[in-house]
Amino acid sequence: MKPHLRSLVPEQISQIPELKGLPAFRAAQLIAWVFEQGVFQWQEMKNLPLTLRQTLREVYDLCALEVETRLVSKEDGTRKFLFKLRDGQTIESVIIPMGDHPTFCISSQVGCAMACSFCATARGGLVRNLEPEEIIDQILMLRRDLQKDPHPHFGHRQPNVVFMGMGEPLDNWDNVEQSLSIMMDNRGLGMSRRKIQISTSGPAEGLQRLIKSNPGIGLTLSLGGTTDESRKKTMPVPGRTGVQEAVDLAAAYARNIGRKATLAWVLIAHQTDSPEQAKQLAALAHRGAFKVNLIPMNRLDDGKLKPSDLEKILAFQKILTNKGIPAFIRASGGQDIAAACGQLRRRRQV
Ligand code: SF4
Repeated sequence: MKPHLRSLVPEQISQIPELKGLPAFRAAQLIAWVFEQGVFQWQEMKNLPLTLRQTLREVYDLCALEVETRLVSKEDGTRKFLFKLRDGQTIESVIIPMGDHPTFCISSQVGCAMACSFCATARGGLVRNLEPEEIIDQILMLRRDLQKDPHPHFGHRQPNVVFMGMGEPLDNWDNVEQSLSIMMDNRGLGMSRRKIQISTSGPAEGLQRLIKSNPGIGLTLSLGGTTDESRKKTMPVPGRTGVQEAVDLAAAYARNIGRKATLAWVLIAHQTDSPEQAKQLAALAHRGAFKVNLIPMNRLDDGKLKPSDLEKILAFQKILTNKGIPAFIRASGGQDIAAACGQLRRRRQV
């Protein structure tokens, strides 16, 4: 497999040997095609000399994924994609309509090693990490889809990007960090750090790396339990990091960036929806600057776990808000197209 140009930040592209001896504006033109235009085919780079395009084509790839499946929800306009990677593996990405802007939910790994009980991705285990270009190309593919088929409510609003698809992003930190550099570079995707969110199951070493790197993006920590024992039950691998340690590391990161972090709580019937757990969750949320997202579990094909009913969800939320914790219910959209993380890929495999 050839190296992909979008594995590089713009400055690195301007220094590739193929541009040596050419006027500086050629590098600027190439970088604009690669990121601003986000093209996937060399022939689209119309203002570059043919010889340069041919040389580049021989050395580099320009497309890391192709659309295998595209589904659009009739319920809420959520668009779900199954992408095929160059080695034949598949990943999922989703465009979620959120008020007046789209949110791109992207993957950071093929599969996931974290084995969370409520997650379809967990069922297949980890296959491999995604490369930076595979992360960036998801964003560009979704962006292009919206350009070709505009959503009625978005206009030209910039998307938010959340690392909330398949995989544990902090377990693939080097490649995720490189993709963040590309996303936030003005000659790259030019995104504000405020429009990017990383969602993690909270491995301690990963959170420590994030704190050290301090990219300024938003952070969501998925908890799964309020005690070490209960957390291990729903999230056996990340559960090796104690609940308080994970929360305190997330609080330290929130302090560094001067913004609230989010605690994500998946509501599973009879497992994570008791009033006692709501009180314990509020106590954890008081350990730092946090808000809470309550996520009713998506039904999985094996039907072993069930989402909590609405009454329980509202009661859970009320306990948190009564204790001064901002708590929001975040139902995932596109139920009719299996939009929850990992379900589409899993359905294709079984
Ligand atoms: S919820 Fe996230 S961390 Fe847990 S198994 Fe699924 S993809 Fe991995």
